Amino acid sequence: MAVHGHYPKLGVFGGTFDPPQNGHIAVAKAVLERLLLDHVLFVPAGNPWQKNEQTSAAQRQEMVRLAIEGYDHFSVSTVDIDREGPTYTVDTLRDISLQYPDSELFFIVGDDAFAGITSWKDFEKLGELATIVVVSRMGIAPEVPAKLSPSVNLLEIDSLPISSTQCRERIANGETLEGLVPGKVADYVAKHQLYRRNA
Ligand code: NAP
Repeated sequence: MAVHGHYPKLGVFGGTFDPPQNGHIAVAKAVLERLLLDHVLFVPAGNPWQKNEQTSAAQRQEMVRLAIEGYDHFSVSTVDIDREGPTYTVDTLRDISLQYPDSELFFIVGDDAFAGITSWKDFEKLGELATIVVVSRMGIAPEVPAKLSPSVNLLEIDSLPISSTQCRERIANGETLEGLVPGKVADYVAKHQLYRRNA
């Protein structure tokens, strides 16, 4: 496996990104600034086994690439798409730590996803691989499993009230994505007729 750039503090932002939206960008920017990270990798899930994604992994990867274009501190990692089988965060973090052996990893996750973390494969091992940065958008401190608690950093941020579900519903209802996703993502969604009802 190739060894990549040198980032002492490396953020790992996993997601289905179906589609990537402005809330994702705002989270990555806020965590980068607050924790003084050197870089954030956006990691689209290859097979997000707890979600019913509506687009292919290749389409979500391309939308993430378009969403972060122009941000020097962001890039896309394909580790979860390159690996076969269901996407498990424990594998994501292991693969990234092999690619970036000198980096300290910070796994960025929202409070909704974090609330289900005990259902994730080998969740108790995640804290050995990374600091788990839980971004709280509801201002409510989530319950932290005891086994993870030494590795969890709760970060309250001013997030944008946007979700990927809302974006998909907007398209299904024949509305635009204006203001919800980066312009290039909106163009991609329109060009490929994604998320349309009966698409
Ligand atoms: P997603 O819907 O694309 O969202 C990505 C992340 O962005 C989530 O943590 C989400 O937090 C956060 N987010 C989205 N909009 C936001 C906003 N406006 N403000 C603040 N935060 C926002 O991704 P996902 O399907 O939840 O997956 C998240 C990660 O969990 C992925 O890396 C996935 O592989 C991992 N996962 C792992 C397992 C496992 O077994 N290991 C199982 C399930 C998920 P919220 O959740 O709070 O919206």
